[in-house]
Amino acid sequence: MASPFRASLCLCLGLATLALVAGEKPGVDPVNIDASVKPCEDFYTYANGGWLKSHTLPADKARYGAFEEVSERNRAILKQILEETSAKTTWAKSSVQQKVGDFYAAGMDEAAIDKRGLAPLKPIFATIDGLQDTKQLPALLAKLHTQGLPGGFGFFVGQDAKESTRYMGNLMQGGTGLPDRDYYLKDDARSRDIRAKYEAHVAKMLQLAGDSPALAAVRAKVILELETRMATAQWTRVELRNPMKRYNKRTLDQVAAEAPGFDWQGYFQARGVAVKDLNLSQPSYFKAFGQLAAETPATQWRTYLRWHALNASANLLPKAFGEEAFAFQGKVLNGTPEREPRAKRIEALTDAILGEALGQLYVKVAFPPESKKRVLDMVENLRVALRERITNLDWMGAETKQQAITKHNAFGVKIGYPDKWKTYAFDVKRDDAFGNVRRASAFRVQENLAKLGKAIDRTEWGMTPPTVNAYYSASMNEIVFPAGILQPPFFDPKADDAVNYGSLGFVIGHEMTHGFDDSGSQFDAQGNLKNWWTEADKQAYESRTDMVVKQYDAYEPLKGEHVNGKLTLGENIADIGGLKIAFAAYQNSLKGKPVPAAIDGFTGPQRFFLGAATVWRNHIREAALSLRLKTDPHSPGRERVNGPLSNLPEFYEAFGCSDGQPMKRDAKVRPAIW
Ligand SMILES: [Zn+2]
Repeated sequence: MASPFRASLCLCLGLATLALVAGEKPGVDPVNIDASVKPCEDFYTYANGGWLKSHTLPADKARYGAFEEVSERNRAILKQILEETSAKTTWAKSSVQQKVGDFYAAGMDEAAIDKRGLAPLKPIFATIDGLQDTKQLPALLAKLHTQGLPGGFGFFVGQDAKESTRYMGNLMQGGTGLPDRDYYLKDDARSRDIRAKYEAHVAKMLQLAGDSPALAAVRAKVILELETRMATAQWTRVELRNPMKRYNKRTLDQVAAEAPGFDWQGYFQARGVAVKDLNLSQPSYFKAFGQLAAETPATQWRTYLRWHALNASANLLPKAFGEEAFAFQGKVLNGTPEREPRAKRIEALTDAILGEALGQLYVKVAFPPESKKRVLDMVENLRVALRERITNLDWMGAETKQQAITKHNAFGVKIGYPDKWKTYAFDVKRDDAFGNVRRASAFRVQENLAKLGKAIDRTEWGMTPPTVNAYYSASMNEIVFPAGILQPPFFDPKADDAVNYGSLGFVIGHEMTHGFDDSGSQFDAQGNLKNWWTEADKQAYESRTDMVVKQYDAYEPLKGEHVNGKLTLGENIADIGGLKIAFAAYQNSLKGKPVPAAIDGFTGPQRFFLGAATVWRNHIREAALSLRLKTDPHSPGRERVNGPLSNLPEFYEAFGCSDGQPMKRDAKVRPAIW
């Protein structure tokens, strides 16, 4: 496709990119295996033990594995693009290069940021300090939310889950500063410790912003108390995974009656949004929030909102603020000893703010068009394999099967980067890092609200091109693979098919299976939240997913801290099903061909499973693992390998695992779903 600007950049990245991957053997490198571990005892360690021994966690990383390896390579390319683009100041105004280059240059100018001190935040503080009476809270929150600043709850426009051809507004719970409600409410030693450190961190930040130590301490207590009341009313992450429970369409009058204490009409009026109906995602949260809004004095709201404005801006303020933010977010929550260098932080910020502008420059040097073709072929082979699986399922009736196949045939696929690039209609100034981010946030909010009443934009992407990840959207019924993940070890044009099917095929199968996980299976072919299952088939499905919950609940990656089988259910179903169909697609690809010769002593099926295990190898800090066990819907790396493989007869056969060995689960507790 043609890019909307001339290809005048010579980044000469070819050699640098090659040098970064030189020395790695394509596909499976035997040095990464630990042959002292038996594959049927613990396949994760068998396949990755060598790699785990030869790699350590970099000081500025909370986790380091295959995803981070690829991400670091992508980031090196982005760094070079950003350095070359920002070095030039003669780009046409408002061109992609001017925006990307000046945004990066402004962020890198630490001296200018230090010199301006807290001045850029002063107008926001002044707005907050204008709150004299809690009756003014709706207007103030509207003003802050319009600027993309947090407080209390969120409002955004998305597809109506039950009518996917229209947009609808959503009120969403929020308001807290810690990553999960558990941190406020649980009484174990780790949660208590983090809570105390959070309070100290809030006080420290307020002191940096000018409060006396005594006042800062009092205010930090107020903030923690108010956030704890919000956390108490918030739904758990397991409850949030239920799309039917989250769907509560209301008129504005109904919201006002259901969540009294806060003037909802006034809030939307101040935001300039004409709302006919909206989704009240968590009704009980908003009922509690209305009460809290009315009961909490204006002075406490001011304290709370000042903290959140400060917290949201920490990395755009003088050095001491960013360092204190890292001392909590990085060190305490994730256990990471060192902060990433500034260039990396600003590069990540540029990707977050101007992702599709930077992405245009990235795909030109990092995503050869041939890759798209090969990946599309693989997607089609996976699609055939899943269709065959559905047709042959022994637990599902013909009626539901027909519906499942209709949905499966309707899957959309996006690969590499968008056909139509997003435009960023806000000013980017070379001398205003703070203002650039604020203007970007306000623009993003405005752009989102403007969707109300318009036709659904099906060209949009939810991830930027360099992202090492992929996703399934239930409302769009589509799977999306950014250019960033289509690289070794996920996808290696030089590797044999077995390995590519085990790694990227697994990822593709995983995303496809999301369309049929416990949540995705509640959406139909058109992306509507609508039941298409017979009652008997629904029950047969749930008795199988219950087995998945039990299997993962039993895993204990940290002493006393288990995997949450219900929180991770959708991802685990996608892992188990994805691996199964990727293997079937690999076998289909061999039909009519001679059996491929073993490589390094490993047969094709063995290399398939080694490829799959490679994807999830990682080192992770204990604090980061604990954080993820509470918040991440994905299981940890080891469980993402050993969990699915130990359910899969194709794996036992490939490695000769026998009954009673840990990697061969008993048939009675083995969920075969997709
Ligand atoms: Zn997933």
